[in-house]
Amino acid sequence: MTEPLLIPCPHCNGLNRIPGDRLGEHPKCGRCKNEVLLARPFDLQQTDYASQNKGDLPLLIDVWAEWCGPCKAFAPVFEQAVRQLLGKCRLAKLDSEANQHLAGQLGIRSIPSLILFKNGREIARQSGALPLQQLGAWLRSQGISA
Ligand code: ZN
Repeated sequence: MTEPLLIPCPHCNGLNRIPGDRLGEHPKCGRCKNEVLLARPFDLQQTDYASQNKGDLPLLIDVWAEWCGPCKAFAPVFEQAVRQLLGKCRLAKLDSEANQHLAGQLGIRSIPSLILFKNGREIARQSGALPLQQLGAWLRSQGISA
């Protein structure tokens, strides 16, 4: 039995307590009964930001926009990374057009931008897309390995 981890639900913002050894077993949210850890990135809205940027798993945010070619090229890489990092890191996409207030608050100057949060605090930031291998290396350098 490992220590439970606090993990926010991407659907309802409910904070779940999930045993560390159950992360790979498709844990369900105690409040809304949906899966807490998704095998795809979830869409982050600025109204949910405070609720989602908490808990025991790091949060990696991909800031993008519909008109941005490099952002679209990076999307499949980010989706692959989610599957590799399931239970290690949560991955979210932030549409900078639909969430301009939060994008401004985060100081986004160019997209795509990757921002890594741990315990609610930004610990690393990367401007521009990365190939999957380099993304993995960047995360490993921050203590997150697949
Ligand atoms: Zn939920």
